Amino acid sequence: MNRISELFGSMSFNDEVMREKLPKEIYKSLHKTIEEGTDLDITVANVVANAMKDWAIEKGATHYTHWFQPMTGITAEKHDSFLTPSGNGKVIMEFSGKELIKGEPDASSFPSGGLRSTFEARGYTTWDPTSYAFIKDDSLCIPTVFCSYGGQVLDKKTPLLRSMERVNEQTLRILKLFGMNDVTHVSSTVGAEQEYFLIDRDVYNKRKDLMLTGRTMFGTKPPKCQELDDHYFGAIKPRVMAFMKELNEELWKVGIYAKTEHNEAAPAQHELAPVFTTTNIATDQNQLTMEIMKRVAIRHNMICLLHEKPFGCVNGSGKHNNWSLSTNTGVNLFNPGKNPADNKLFLLFLCAVIKAVDEHQDLLRISVASAGNDHRLGADEAPPAIVSIYLGEQLTDVLASIEHDTDYTEAKAQRMSTGVHVLADFRKDTSDRNRTSPFAFTGNKFEFRMLGSTLSIAEPNIVLNTIAADVFSEFADRLEKAQDFEHELKALLKETIRDHKRIIFNGNNYSQDWVELAEKRGLLNLKTTADAAPHYTDEKNVALFERQRIFTSSELESRRDIMLEHYNNVYHIEIETMLEMVHRDILPAVFTYSADLAQMIEAKQAIGMEDAAGKGVLTKVNKLTDELYRNTAVLEDVNAVFNSIANPMERANYCRDHAISAMDATRKAVDRLEDLVDAKIWPYPSYSDLLFSVDS
Ligand code: ADP
Ligand code: MG
Repeated sequence: MNRISELFGSMSFNDEVMREKLPKEIYKSLHKTIEEGTDLDITVANVVANAMKDWAIEKGATHYTHWFQPMTGITAEKHDSFLTPSGNGKVIMEFSGKELIKGEPDASSFPSGGLRSTFEARGYTTWDPTSYAFIKDDSLCIPTVFCSYGGQVLDKKTPLLRSMERVNEQTLRILKLFGMNDVTHVSSTVGAEQEYFLIDRDVYNKRKDLMLTGRTMFGTKPPKCQELDDHYFGAIKPRVMAFMKELNEELWKVGIYAKTEHNEAAPAQHELAPVFTTTNIATDQNQLTMEIMKRVAIRHNMICLLHEKPFGCVNGSGKHNNWSLSTNTGVNLFNPGKNPADNKLFLLFLCAVIKAVDEHQDLLRISVASAGNDHRLGADEAPPAIVSIYLGEQLTDVLASIEHDTDYTEAKAQRMSTGVHVLADFRKDTSDRNRTSPFAFTGNKFEFRMLGSTLSIAEPNIVLNTIAADVFSEFADRLEKAQDFEHELKALLKETIRDHKRIIFNGNNYSQDWVELAEKRGLLNLKTTADAAPHYTDEKNVALFERQRIFTSSELESRRDIMLEHYNNVYHIEIETMLEMVHRDILPAVFTYSADLAQMIEAKQAIGMEDAAGKGVLTKVNKLTDELYRNTAVLEDVNAVFNSIANPMERANYCRDHAISAMDATRKAVDRLEDLVDAKIWPYPSYSDLLFSVDS
C-alpha cells in the first residue's frame, strides 16, 4: 500500500501539489477559478506556470504540450521545449503564464466540418484549469480547450465544460427550492468502465485488417468461441496479469485510480473500472487510460484493441458511462436513501432524468453513433439502438403509486396480482441489475451502456448534462412560481410520470418482443449512424442546444457532418482493405490450393487411382472461388459509386443500403473458403490464433 500511495498522483499536478507549491493567495485565486469558473488572472497564471515548470523539470520533463481533444475523438498534442536561448549562447528553462494559458497549434488539418476556412485555420488552445496537468513521456501535458478565432467550438472539451456549467446552475435553482442553501456547486460525476481486447503482437502484425482498420474484416468462427463462458471473471493469465500490474502503476502515476480489472465475456477481453470523478476529469482520464493501455500492451509484446467489434463471432467492446450529480457538500443527488417513496428531492431529479431521456432519445443515440458501434448496438450482446430506462421494480412501483395516487405498498401488490410487467423473464429481485438495459439506474447513479469502447465519453456527457439541465430549468421555472410548493411538486411528478413512463422498461432489451413493444410505445429505433446523424440538427435539438448555450446551429451542422464523414471514411478504408486482401492474398492462396489439388488429382489419375475426396474438395473450393470473385466484383462496383458521391449524408445512406451488404457477401465467401483451404496456405492467422494468442 505504501508503494501505491507513493506512486499515486506522482506525475499529476494535482490539488495537493498545488497547495504545496503555490503561494497561499495564488492557490486560493486558482481555486476560485476552478470552482466558480472565474477568469484566470495573468499574474496568477505566471506564478502557476512557473511552479508547474519547476515541478515538471524536477520530475524529469523537458517539454510541455497543450493536450487537447479535437473532433477526431482522440487527443492531440504539440510539444514545445521549456528551453529558451538566454542570449549568451546558453539556454534557460522558461515557461510563462501566457504560454500556459494560450497556445496556437497549427491545426488546420483537424476536422472542423466547414467551420474554419483555411485563411483562419489557426485555432487556439486555452488551458482548462479544472483538469490537472500531468507528465507523460518527459512532457508536461496541459489539459486544454481548442477554439477557432471566431470563438467557434472545435473540440470536445469546450461544450463539455459548458454543459457542466449549465447543470450546475440549474441544479442549484432546484436545491434552493428545497432549502439546501449550503450547496454552492454541483458537479456531474462520471466513472467510465472500459472494455478492451489483448492479443499477441506477432499475430497482430500478420493481420493487415487489424492493422489498417482495427477490426478483422474476415475470419471464420473457430471451434471454440465464448460458448463455455469460461473466460468471464475467470483466472487472469500471467502475461495479462503482468500487463495489468504495470498498467495500474502507470495510471496511478497520473492520478487515475483504476479500481477493478477482470476478464470479460469474450476470450482475450478484459475490463477496467476507474473511481469516478467530475465529468471533465473523467473524460481526460478515459482518453489517457486508452492511450496508456495501448502503450503498456506494446511493452508486453501485446496489442490492446479498442475497436468496438474486432472479431465477428465474439462480443464486442463497450464502455459504461456511470453518471451522477454530486454537491460540494458531498450529497449524491441520485441517492434514493432508505425510503425513496418519501424522498421528494430524489424523485424530482429522477423524474427529470426520465423526461430528459424520453424527450431526447435521439440525442443519446446520436452521442454514441459510429461505424464501429453500429456493429454492437442491437446485436444481442449490447443494448439495442432503442433507448429506454431500467429502474428496477421497486422504483417503478414507487412511480406508479405517485401517478395513481395510491400508496406504494398498494401499487406493488397490484402489480404482483395483475402481472402488468410485460416480459416475465425479469427477475423479481429489485437489486438485480438488468445487464441488457441501455440506460440503467444502478442504485445511486445512471449507467449509460450504449457507448462503444473507442468513443470519447465527452459527447454522451455533453448530451446528458445538457438534457438534464434543460429539464431542471423547466422544473425550476415552474416550481419557483408555485403558490403551494408541495402541491405543485406533486402535480409535476405525477404529470411527468404519466407523460414519460413509456421510456421505462425493466425487461429483456435483447428480445424481439421489446423491439415490437417499443415501436408500439412510439420509441425511436435509429439502427445505424446514417439513420441517427440527421436528427442532430432537428429543430428540437437546435433549439435545445441554443437555449442551453452549448452549440449554435452551425456548430451542430458541422458536428453532424464530421460524424458522417468519419463514418464514410471508416467504410472507405474498410472496403479498400477488403479488396486488397482478397486480390493480393486470399485469391492467390486459394489458387495455389486449387492448383495443388488439381495436380494431386491428375497425378493419381495417371496411376489409375480415383480421387473422390480431392475432387469433392476442389469442386467446393472452385464454386466458392467463383462466388468470391463475383461478390468482390460487386463490391468494387459499389465502391466506385460510394466514392463518387460528394454529399456526406447521401454517401452514408448509400453505404448503409449498398456497401455493407456487399461487404458482408464478400466476407461470407472468404470465411467459407477459410473453412476449406489448407491452413498452411491460408495467408492470415485464424480467429483461434488471434483469440487464444495470449495463453500463458
Ligand atoms: P458495480 O457494482 O456495478 O461494479 P461500482 O460502484 O463499482 O458498481 O461502480 C461502477 C462504476 O461506476 C465505477 O467506475 C465507479 O467509479 C462508478 N461510480 C460509482 N458511483 C458513481 C457516481 N456517484 N457517479 C459516477 N460514477 C460512479
Ligand atoms: Mg458496468
